[in-house]
Amino acid sequence: MDCIADDRSSQAGTPSPSLMSSTCTEVTSISSELGSSTSSVSSDTSYLYEKYGCDGDSDSVPSCYICLDEGVDELGQPLVRDCSCRGTDAGFAHLHCIANYAEQKSQHWDGHDMYQLIVHWKVCPNCHQPYQNEPAIELANRFISYVEKTHPNDKGLAVAALKLKLGALGEFIYRQNMITSHSNDDKKKEEATATASKLLATIDQMRHSSSRSSRRVSNRILQIEAFVYFDLGQICFSEKTTKSAREAVLHFEKCRDLFEAMDIKASGVAAGISAAENSIAATMLRLDGNIPASMEKKLEHSRNMYKLCVEEYGEDDGETLKVGTNLAIDLRNTKHTTESLRLLTKLMDRSRRVHGIEHSLTKRIETTLQQYKVRRVLYQSQDGRWKKYRALRYEEEDRKNIVLQGPIHEPRCDERTFTVPSMAILPSLGTPIVCYGFGRNSFMGNLNGKVGDLRSWDKDTGSYEVHFEQTDLWSCSLKSENFHILFDLPEKNEGNGLNR
Ligand SMILES: [Zn+2]
Ligand SMILES: [Zn+2]
Repeated sequence: MDCIADDRSSQAGTPSPSLMSSTCTEVTSISSELGSSTSSVSSDTSYLYEKYGCDGDSDSVPSCYICLDEGVDELGQPLVRDCSCRGTDAGFAHLHCIANYAEQKSQHWDGHDMYQLIVHWKVCPNCHQPYQNEPAIELANRFISYVEKTHPNDKGLAVAALKLKLGALGEFIYRQNMITSHSNDDKKKEEATATASKLLATIDQMRHSSSRSSRRVSNRILQIEAFVYFDLGQICFSEKTTKSAREAVLHFEKCRDLFEAMDIKASGVAAGISAAENSIAATMLRLDGNIPASMEKKLEHSRNMYKLCVEEYGEDDGETLKVGTNLAIDLRNTKHTTESLRLLTKLMDRSRRVHGIEHSLTKRIETTLQQYKVRRVLYQSQDGRWKKYRALRYEEEDRKNIVLQGPIHEPRCDERTFTVPSMAILPSLGTPIVCYGFGRNSFMGNLNGKVGDLRSWDKDTGSYEVHFEQTDLWSCSLKSENFHILFDLPEKNEGNGLNR
């Protein structure tokens, strides 16, 4: 009956590397500083209606906010919008125009604060959120060319530009793998590996050429190097194979060692070490299937990270939303499903508002939420074997029977939907439940209607350890006649009255 411990295929979260890098600083709002070109090109914008759901009947046709042209540019490249701008016409631009604009802004760089240069190639000046996906990668490429052209001997800038590209590729691959959960883009991974090699080689050159290796300079180099290994680790981690998980552990360990070699008091070092350790724990979890002690530790760490982000950046910040999503995943992996679902629901509303419904983080939160809403149970089939099924709903008001679908395995050819007595199933660990059936005056009567999670299973007594959402209730051991599976969570603090 050990198989009751729910499957481990669920994604374990890793912290976002960008948390450790500088956060977005103020960007002056764009005006049409580049002037508008009046040359008219073909304006077939129908693809935008499809891609962004713009209203085809409305008069507003998307146009580039920089050159003001509709449709493709001179080179036939379409309008793009891959930040958090939304609405039917806001924020669309030609990549070529964005790059020109960034280049122009870059000419005014003071030569000191590197972020003030990078920001033009990384963050949309309208919504102040980073570009994502292909546009982010392409802008990083343009930034690399710009640096090669204007500062050919500046290794520090070359490293910054390559790092921007690796970060963009890393996020792209990571998100793709997390959303689609199958085939990964090999070309992109090759590009990422090549970029990382080039980065490490450039860092090596820097190290050898810096005769006066002041502590500050070498710390900075170590930090970038650590980020390179973190990105590589994340890319491997997202591939979801045993081989890539082993590779990921090596990268994360290298990242941790580099951080440990730095001055612990330097900013970001402590966070870097725990982010690396955190990721090692998450990856080991995937490799081993079960390491409860480190998982609990990781959960505690994720809670602190989220709390810190909320305090530092506020609940609506993009970084907070990412860290919150990772916390929700850690909660689910440690069977705190009720809390995970509540957090994801909140994050989804916020991400929809902050980033819009098309944004990859919003989609990732939605997918995760859908996945966690599935209620898995074990049921003994006619051949005597316990198999995993999806529980869909109770059949009647009295919940005596339950509708199952499955068995869950690939291929899904022999799947069927049928009804069985509720007492014949065993819910998976982590299933949210609501208590019922205790005598009103019995000493456990106060548990009726209380919401909790099934945290562990005692095969000798056939009962579950239940942890309650209400924090002033002790956890207790319950048999399945005293709880129902919760398919939809009630509003918080309305646990009473659920049970009639
Ligand atoms: Zn344009
Ligand atoms: Zn934008």
